[in-house]
Amino acid sequence: KKIRIALDGPAAAGKSTAAKKIAEKLGFIYIDTGAMYRTLTYKALKNQIDPKNEQELYNLLLNTVIELKPGIDGQLVYLDGKEVTTEIRQQDVTQNVSDVALHQLVRSEMVRRQQELVKNGGIVMDGRDIGTAVIPDAELKIFMSATAEERARRRFEEHQKQGIESDLHVLQAEIEKRDHIDSTRAVSPLVKAEDAIELDTTHMSISEVVNKVTELAAD
Ligand code: C5P
Repeated sequence: KKIRIALDGPAAAGKSTAAKKIAEKLGFIYIDTGAMYRTLTYKALKNQIDPKNEQELYNLLLNTVIELKPGIDGQLVYLDGKEVTTEIRQQDVTQNVSDVALHQLVRSEMVRRQQELVKNGGIVMDGRDIGTAVIPDAELKIFMSATAEERARRRFEEHQKQGIESDLHVLQAEIEKRDHIDSTRAVSPLVKAEDAIELDTTHMSISEVVNKVTELAAD
């Protein structure tokens, strides 16, 4: 069945890692919507646009092409034709993305673009508002959570593997700050959709999460 799976949850809850594998297993397309907000943030910072300036960000977005293409190792991200897959994970982008993502004008344009991408089904889309705003009628909605300590620990491990220098406590503070902005904003705050299935992954392995979601998708 070519269903639409909406995967939401707080920062570093393992959504993208799981979503990638779920998509692979089901032969679905994986769409990471956070990458779209990150790409706009990256361009805004390069153009010295204040993340608080809604109108300028919106004008910038209207003149920006963001493409998500499947790669061997997950999704590749293109900004105006140039690949920015790793650049959008930089710390300055991470620190500013939630301020960019809280504006109404930015969100409505992003949601419009994301809805274009899900028209055909057979997709796993991850983000913060997929089950509530982007695909409110998704066949399967998952809200993935884990304690902030565990999420920081996972991100720290990821950084160590990639040789990125980081500090566990700084990471946890940054994750909690982002969660706070995301869950208290006026437009489409991060909340579990009423009909979403909550999956607390604190004590689950990635393969357990993947198996659980693919089982639910088969029901
Ligand atoms: O998923 P990721 O952590 O890369 O998302 C980066 C940020 O983009 C989030 O912290 C949030 O502020 C914003 N975002 C959003 N809505 C989405 C996806 C991401 O507001 N659907």
